[in-house]
Amino acid sequence: MANEMTRALMQEMGAPLVLGCEAIPTPGPGEVLIRVFACGVCHSDLHIVDGDWGLPPKLPLIPGHEVVGEVVSYGPDTTGPAVGAVVGVAWNGGACGHCRACLEGDETICRESEGTGFSRDGGYADYIVARAAFVAELPKDIDAARFAPVLCAGVTTYRGLKRAQLRPGAYVAVIGCGGLGQMAVQYARAMGFRPIAVDLDAGKLELATRLGAVATVKGDVADLPAELRAIAGDAGLRAAIVVAPALSAFTAAIAAISPGGAVIFIALPAKDRDTLPVSISTLANFEKRLIGSNVGTRADLLEAVELALTAGILADVETLPLAEANTALDRLRRGQVPGRLVLTT
Ligand SMILES: [Zn+2]
Ligand SMILES: [Zn+2]
Repeated sequence: MANEMTRALMQEMGAPLVLGCEAIPTPGPGEVLIRVFACGVCHSDLHIVDGDWGLPPKLPLIPGHEVVGEVVSYGPDTTGPAVGAVVGVAWNGGACGHCRACLEGDETICRESEGTGFSRDGGYADYIVARAAFVAELPKDIDAARFAPVLCAGVTTYRGLKRAQLRPGAYVAVIGCGGLGQMAVQYARAMGFRPIAVDLDAGKLELATRLGAVATVKGDVADLPAELRAIAGDAGLRAAIVVAPALSAFTAAIAAISPGGAVIFIALPAKDRDTLPVSISTLANFEKRLIGSNVGTRADLLEAVELALTAGILADVETLPLAEANTALDRLRRGQVPGRLVLTT
């Protein structure tokens, strides 16, 4: 039917998504209706669908927060990109705009923040409704599938690297070279750093080298911190961005960074209960910095998009039709994804 759309719906936690049709949603005040071209499949989607997080999503839910599409119509009293504009929709789907965090430019930690594909319906569908003020306009000729991962994997790693406040030329270990890691390598290069890629998988390390890693290390070497320190030499390992959800990756990163260096915490373990033993005196005496980073603000998104367009950052992707959403999640669950899976409509 003309006013219906196909979507993959999460009805309960821990169950496969249900593919079916429903009415195309109507944008409310401040919202736009977007026809979806492509939506990346992020590891967070898997956590949400599997019910791994302490905080449950809204149900039923259409997942997906790496969306590229075209503006179709507006809700009442709404301004934003013109009808026909190509836009990106990211995880950051809304914030109050007036709390202390928002005023200080940290809408990522606003208590009323809305998550696309979590507390708002996402992009595993033909159409999505988004808050007009939270979409990013993109060039019309963008490669939607290859650009979609910039909207989560890209902005997330960009903000993390930015928060570490590194100098040009800094060595940065990228620990984990899946969907986020391959973007972290590209952003690190574009920002003037020297990324060292770490992963267990030789194929992912090859990809990282193609994307600009200056060196690679197998993640299961006997002494990962020593290997990383040896590569960085006198310049020191100024930061490690951890996008592999393993406790050992975080501990190795803390041990590997030079005095004054930073570990950027991005990967989320499958269960919220994981905690980290850290030497207090090492942190204090050597001024090591542990930095949490949560996706990105609208300003981060604009910067990440502009840098991607300037530096030619694109994801290495494999596309699947929307109807294969469960297959995509299964493959991610089994770790059988070399780059990023993207659903296309
Ligand atoms: Zn994501
Ligand atoms: Zn707020």
